[in-house]
Amino acid sequence: MATQFVDTAKITVIAGKGGNGAVAFHREKYVAAGGPDGGDGGRGGNIILQVDDNMSTLMDFRYKRKYVAKNGEPGGGARCTGKDGESLTIRVPRGTVVRDAETNEIIQDMSTKEPFILCRGGRGGWGNQHFATPTRQAPRFAKAGLPGQSREVVLELKLLADVGLVGFPNVGKSTLLSVVSKAQPKITNYHFTTLFPNLGVVYVEEGVSFVMADIPGIIEGASEGAGLGHDFMRHIDRCRLLIHVVDGSGCEGRDPVEDFKIINEELKQYSPELAQRKMLVAANKTDLVYDRTELERLKAYVTEQGYPFYEISAATHKGTNELMHKVAGELANLPPVTVYEPEYVPRAPKLDTSDELVVEQADGVWYVEGPWLEKLISNVNFGDFESRNWFDRQLRESGLFARMEEMGVQDGDEVNLYGLEFEYQS
Ligand code: GDP
Ligand code: MG
Repeated sequence: MATQFVDTAKITVIAGKGGNGAVAFHREKYVAAGGPDGGDGGRGGNIILQVDDNMSTLMDFRYKRKYVAKNGEPGGGARCTGKDGESLTIRVPRGTVVRDAETNEIIQDMSTKEPFILCRGGRGGWGNQHFATPTRQAPRFAKAGLPGQSREVVLELKLLADVGLVGFPNVGKSTLLSVVSKAQPKITNYHFTTLFPNLGVVYVEEGVSFVMADIPGIIEGASEGAGLGHDFMRHIDRCRLLIHVVDGSGCEGRDPVEDFKIINEELKQYSPELAQRKMLVAANKTDLVYDRTELERLKAYVTEQGYPFYEISAATHKGTNELMHKVAGELANLPPVTVYEPEYVPRAPKLDTSDELVVEQADGVWYVEGPWLEKLISNVNFGDFESRNWFDRQLRESGLFARMEEMGVQDGDEVNLYGLEFEYQS
């Protein structure tokens, strides 16, 4: 039994909580009562994704599904800030598309070496050093650290290849890849061998090369209940061009025109967009052709459909170089390999804003606190306009501002929400 190729996984990721702020007072000989000097808590660690080219499957995620970054340490006396929690870096194979498990929207396409922050650690709480005011010289409170972001994501590996080989099992796809590249896919005269996609680099001439993928056949295994079906098609989604390999010899008693139609229909069912992808047709095993009747019928059908048609023999290398040159020529005029744009928009986590927040005023500064506000703040990315807008809307809709106006807040007053400071603007 071949090992199953794992190319999807669902995991839970949790960034670290911020450390709590400290309550402490300065102590020195001969100084009766020192000022407050409690330090801030450290930031919680982030969850970071990073491409690792030594990985080729998502196998690791089958066994470990929960990833938690370290919490920030609490602040100390003498204005000591707590240590930041260590970030957790999760390695993924190149081409891993990360989606939000709830909405299925793409969060990030991990196809470059650029690390990506998937979850931000919570901010550390302020120590009491920040809360001294002329009328409150010995504040006996500090702030708790904020929770880190957490989310459930689906990882989906979609290989990065310029060219994808499609066709029925046993037509010679793996053989073709092995003769034009250094890849060593498994080749057997058996319909259910290829259970792993294979990638090979094809060097056409100096400075001209491309990556070609041989995926387990679309039909392969499906009838055996191996559960493949369309599963592997995701690996040709990004391809710029497809080579449709057909057995041109008819040596297995199959009808090549029929086979060609069936595969195209499967492609269309999986993705109409993929069915429109530039396609070249390679009639393989022509070394076995003695009677050209069937081959000519295939050629007539394929050309009539508007596809370029090539006769090759992967076994004897006849026509394979010419085909690869043709492919390189086509690629030069095609758009680059698809990289998926992020489509995830941060949304309101289900917040119950009915609980009243605690609003306190001290020396013209309005301090607002409450469990849902804490949750809200830890979910906002203040560097992002959309996210900030959403935050503002949530606050308005909760009735907080209306209440503060009743309490007498003025334009220009300072508002402090868990250390987030701004001037009030009605
Ligand atoms: P795949 O299932 O499409 O990947 O097909 P394989 O590459 O595994 O080939 C299936 C069988 O066809 C193997 O026994 C190959 O040796 C054989 N084969 C592949 N290409 C040719 C060819 O051009 N001529 C001949 N005579 N046999 C071939
Ligand atoms: Mg194969």
